[in-house]
Amino acid sequence: MPGVGPRSAERIALWMVGARDNKPEQIARAITDTRQSIRSCKLCGFFAAGEICDICADSSRSTELLCVVEQATDILPLEKTNAFRGRYHSLGGKISPLDHIGPDDLRIKELLERVDQEKITEIIFALPADVEGESTTSYIVDLLKNKQVNLTRIARGIPAGGGLESADELTLSAALSGRTKL
Ligand SMILES: [Zn+2]
Repeated sequence: MPGVGPRSAERIALWMVGARDNKPEQIARAITDTRQSIRSCKLCGFFAAGEICDICADSSRSTELLCVVEQATDILPLEKTNAFRGRYHSLGGKISPLDHIGPDDLRIKELLERVDQEKITEIIFALPADVEGESTTSYIVDLLKNKQVNLTRIARGIPAGGGLESADELTLSAALSGRTKL
């Protein structure tokens, strides 16, 4: 499991074997339930218990602002800032020829469909500030340049080579409010 080193793993294993109550069984059941009930939101790719996630289903959020992120997990730190009240679109990765990930492997087609179907006026790109993130942004900007939608990117301040999950909330909040036109 991520974040669990050999020492912790050993302690957990010993605890499981020696537990006198049924906590290990409860955890096993919780893991199985999560695996079965949580899926990808049909619209944005975030975690959802039904077809559509809580963010997409929230009618108090702006339908005009769409923030494009690399992974569903990038949505969590952005949500914690409370600075963004629009909706998201997770691409599920970034264009990376070395890893054999091309545009067709990402949820770019779904993004274009949303731009055509929803009343989006601004798309904010919040992809990582690395080579693959940059080329993914420019690839999509190119596809969208003839559409009636403003294209912006979040301001820098996110550490180079670092993902959104490693940035603190203040930096992320400032990055969002200081976004620039593409
Ligand atoms: Zn969603």
